[in-house]
Amino acid sequence: TIQPSVASKIAPLEDNITINITSASEFTSKNDDIDFSDAASTIVIQPGSESIKIGFALDDKPLIIPNCIAIATSRFNENHQRSNQINKLQIQQPTDFDTLKENLQETFKQRMRYYKRRIQSNSYEQVSGFNSVTRGEPVPDLNENGKTSWIETPKDDTIYIGEDALRCTDTNFIHRKPFCCSGGGAIFNISDDNNYSSIEEVYGDAVRIIKYATKRLIKRRQDRRKKSELYELYTSEQIRALMEDVDEHSIFKSILIIPDTFEKTHVENMIRLLLTELNFNAVALMQESLAACYGTGTGVSTCVVNVGANKTNIACVDDGSVVENSCVTLDYGGDDITRLFAKLLLMSNFPYESWDVNNVSGWKNAEMLKKQCITFQDVDVTTQSFNFIKRVPGERTEKIEFKTFDEVMLAPLALFEPKIFTYLKQNSDSVAINKNLRKQLPISRDPFTNIPNDWESLTQDNCRENKLYSDFQDNFALINNILDNILENREVEDPSNNDQKLNLIPLDKAIIQSITNAALDVDVTKLSSFYSNILVIGGTSKIPAFDFMLTDRINIWRPRLLSLNSFANFYKSLLEKIKELETNAKNNANVITSNNDAVTPNNTKNDDEDEDDDEEGDAQAEIVPKDKLGEDNLRGQIDSMVKQELEKYMKETEAHTSSEHYLPVSVVPAPHDRDPSLMLWKGATVLAQLKLIEELYITETDWDVHGSRILQHKCLFAY
Ligand code: ADP
Repeated sequence: TIQPSVASKIAPLEDNITINITSASEFTSKNDDIDFSDAASTIVIQPGSESIKIGFALDDKPLIIPNCIAIATSRFNENHQRSNQINKLQIQQPTDFDTLKENLQETFKQRMRYYKRRIQSNSYEQVSGFNSVTRGEPVPDLNENGKTSWIETPKDDTIYIGEDALRCTDTNFIHRKPFCCSGGGAIFNISDDNNYSSIEEVYGDAVRIIKYATKRLIKRRQDRRKKSELYELYTSEQIRALMEDVDEHSIFKSILIIPDTFEKTHVENMIRLLLTELNFNAVALMQESLAACYGTGTGVSTCVVNVGANKTNIACVDDGSVVENSCVTLDYGGDDITRLFAKLLLMSNFPYESWDVNNVSGWKNAEMLKKQCITFQDVDVTTQSFNFIKRVPGERTEKIEFKTFDEVMLAPLALFEPKIFTYLKQNSDSVAINKNLRKQLPISRDPFTNIPNDWESLTQDNCRENKLYSDFQDNFALINNILDNILENREVEDPSNNDQKLNLIPLDKAIIQSITNAALDVDVTKLSSFYSNILVIGGTSKIPAFDFMLTDRINIWRPRLLSLNSFANFYKSLLEKIKELETNAKNNANVITSNNDAVTPNNTKNDDEDEDDDEEGDAQAEIVPKDKLGEDNLRGQIDSMVKQELEKYMKETEAHTSSEHYLPVSVVPAPHDRDPSLMLWKGATVLAQLKLIEELYITETDWDVHGSRILQHKCLFAY
């Protein structure tokens, strides 16, 4: 029977249903009680830099909660310094910026010429002339869509979360973003300008957002469903827990979407928060690119390109797993386009003199303008007029009529020439990590060797060193670079010893690098499948004609050698010949060694003063000749064989110029009725409904007993 206090809370829900509730103590979250196959009680969580997508696995759409918390300035301890951001829109940019802008303009003009679109010679004058005389017209703010009721004064220590935080003005509030705004594999925001002084504060805000989101989620479900349906979904104990508002998570499991090249310490701390602070009864992990494939129903080998707010992730997925060597994170995304677009508008006399995108209203206006105007559709780039409602707290609402010309395409075009973004970022050339927070949340290391043991990707390294296949003019140098990448052992770099430079490799070139490395890693014949399935997702892929532009750009930059249909066979035969040469060299070395008793592998090495310890001795004696001479000799033989084979191959293919000899490039956008920024979330909801998920849940008991070692057995990827 129901106790009166509980009953009074449940009663309004459904009058004519009698509920039998056993005592609260019986409501436990032991492993036995968890129904791992029940997707109705699974919440999928996707932390993002702009927003957190969170929802029940059986819902159509998640809630999108802005990744933002606002706290009254007065609540801050006096020593805390608000991060001071320079208003880069207003400062005079160096001449390099103008040069980069001119480069973008040249690329734009070339494209227009190629598609035979006419550009009026006086377009620039028309736009800046019009904008310099146009003025905002005061309008009554009746328009509900986009109207913002600003929160200007803090109310009793309230902490504002999500959309509410974005309504808090900068004068009296400090804004913080707990989730990932820096680095490729981070879940938590440990960047330098984040207004956090300890990692506990970051965790606190992360928990706050998820709690807030779950409450809203439950409320939404109650509002939406016929109340009786709730009783079909949950047991009466669960409903009581929902209604009582205590420990609400203990009836839910969660699937957490993590970056492809996740940082282990971030993942482990997030699992800890979900299980212990938020009381979820089980947690499972899914990497984002795999989630994208599940979300769009792609089963074949695919290259996933996720263009988000702060970063862009590229990774190839083959046979149900993410190919480690193909992963790369680029340190730019939609937010950089927003900043650049605002700057370009101001350069065309846009009438918004005090525009500062570092404050909430300035940012909101910039985002609205960007979404309204930018495009890759060349037919839409002419001198054109737009209307815009400018809303700034404490100022009258204004309607501004303005004109644009090429700004609408130049801003997104910078994804392919991203160096210009650095001039508008707060930290122009490196990922600024807060040293204190990094110390509290260090990178993961192997407990025995102390070597960093997070995922390492060849593509990420290539981008860091700026050694890209697309930049090679000469085929021999290109193939040598490929062989070096694949055949040579890479040294694991210690990330803590290096400044992390921003990765600003152009999007098209990074995709080519990722696909090539993925195919060389798993099977070179898969080049064809990766190129025909380049899946673009993420909010920024909503730019009109994004897929057309990307297809063109990949076709422009893909080296001819790597585009040929027959390349896979050529490459395979090349590898076989290299193997043959190596075997011959090894046999020769063995003959020499056995003919000369005095020269054993180990004392050969002693002769060589450059090599020091003897650990490698036996292993090397087995595969390659010991002496340097032999190695050089082998290398020389390989080089001349590769040269010969390449010449022969290029001669054979020279005659082929028709398109059927090239691997087709096909960029696939998210299905047209689906939001591309929700594809990852959708993918995890699919996983939640498969039998497979039962093997992947980690419970609190698992975590207590085994700690992070359990992840080696409960992940779809190598942990
Ligand atoms: P994240 O996962 O990093 O939070 P999302 O995939 O949700 O990012 O994408 C957010 C980004 O997409 C923002 O930079 C936003 O401005 C951009 N965006 C959203 N809608 C559009 C649109 N219609 N046109 C251009 N950019 C858009």
